[in-house]
Amino acid sequence: MPQAPEPEKLDVVALVDTAERELAAAATEQALREVHARYGGREGAIKRAVQAAINAAPKDRKREVGQVGNAALQRIEGAFEARLRSLGDEARTRDLARTVDVTLPGRSHRPGHLHPITHARRAIERIFAQLGFTLATGPQVETDFHNFEALAMPPDHPARDMQDTFYLANSDLLLRTHTSPVQIRTMLAQRPPVRVICPGTVYRRDDDPTHSPMFHQVEGLLVDEQVTFADLKGVLLHFARAFFGPATTVRLRPSFFPFTEPSAEFDLSCVFCAGAGCRTCKNTGWIEVGGAGMVDPEVFRHVDYDSERYTGFAFGFGIDRMAMLKYRISDIRLLYEGDHRLLEQFP
Ligand SMILES: [Zn+2]
Repeated sequence: MPQAPEPEKLDVVALVDTAERELAAAATEQALREVHARYGGREGAIKRAVQAAINAAPKDRKREVGQVGNAALQRIEGAFEARLRSLGDEARTRDLARTVDVTLPGRSHRPGHLHPITHARRAIERIFAQLGFTLATGPQVETDFHNFEALAMPPDHPARDMQDTFYLANSDLLLRTHTSPVQIRTMLAQRPPVRVICPGTVYRRDDDPTHSPMFHQVEGLLVDEQVTFADLKGVLLHFARAFFGPATTVRLRPSFFPFTEPSAEFDLSCVFCAGAGCRTCKNTGWIEVGGAGMVDPEVFRHVDYDSERYTGFAFGFGIDRMAMLKYRISDIRLLYEGDHRLLEQFP
């Protein structure tokens, strides 16, 4: 006589079928874990049904019912793990489809590049290096002594008014108004001969829209025996031709600076119209670019150089201005606005 099906066995089998269907249909990992928690594990419905079936089974069949129950629980665990893996694969495939088109060529990195002022500064440094000038630098926060007094500008000197100075509150310190203090530091540190250029950032309280309160200067200093004004002009002419081209000429006009005597403004033949006259040079054919002169013996006295034995010249000009002339940039503010449309033209 055939045995009737055992109801506890059917319950477990039906539960396992339902659980497997729901596990396979779970659309998200969270839904999957919820289904798993409902049916699987020590607390789930299948374990409870198996336990109930074991309890209800006759003593000699409890072991068999337990084995069937364990097999059912293992199937649920297997189905859960499989669905978890396939959900992960689906998510990765979706992410890849959304973010990467693997048929596109790779993105190349856009390298950074130098600012036009840096280009100009380096070109200036190279030209003077060829003439034997070495590079000297100094602090941007300076003492009154280095910035003014040692350059023959004592506290009440009217020339101080020429430079609107940023002073640091309650101290003897200031933001250097020119790179000349580097000349002083160099001369205090070494004996002649001296042949240096000093490029750097300088600061003045200009609120004029055509000026920037921070800008860049380079100064040159040459001290030796028998240095003359002709040497100064020769160096400036060589620089102008190397920087702007062989047709460039230099003009010196008498001027005044506290730390040089005699002093001169130096002009370049206009790089735009080659001297014919244009808007940039205000139809003069010349562009003012800097100052120069023979080092005043008073400056030598401050650094303990023998002014009977040594003479020297110094010159200075704006690097920003040179960059604007060389690269045909009409407005100084363009140099400081960081606009990529300008900067990208100077790779
Ligand atoms: Zn011109």
